Amino acid sequence: MSNCLFCKIASKEISADFILETAELFAIKDIAPQAPVHLLIIPKKHLASLLDLSAADQSLIAHIHSAAIELAKQFGLAENGFRLVNNCLGDGGQAVPHLHFHLLGGRKMTWPPG
Ligand code: 5GP
Ligand code: ZN
Repeated sequence: MSNCLFCKIASKEISADFILETAELFAIKDIAPQAPVHLLIIPKKHLASLLDLSAADQSLIAHIHSAAIELAKQFGLAENGFRLVNNCLGDGGQAVPHLHFHLLGGRKMTWPPG
């Protein structure tokens, strides 16, 4: 999508440090970290929100979770745990309308979220 921040990062039109990159997704550090580790796992193809995933995306969904596990281990979160979050649309707190998952860790999370 032409005017989408994460599509522009995916296509390298906007530069970013890729922590992980595969054919289907990439991971970057969040620009405004909410925890000592705060990564964004982002599918390369433009999907506006979680609601746009379909049965055809099953391998992508699995791949996102595999990437989260790999990154959690890489960033030292496998022992104490972490949080994998998707904010969906307005009530979910989604600000960037391109599907992404937050991997947060390195501190004790609170519940319920605000
Ligand atoms: P959302 O609220 O949509 O779930 O999360 C969007 C996230 O993207 C926010 O945590 C925000 O800090 C992050 N973000 C926004 N713009 C940029 C950017 O240009 N680069 C990076 N690395 N993160 C960004
Ligand atoms: Zn996009």
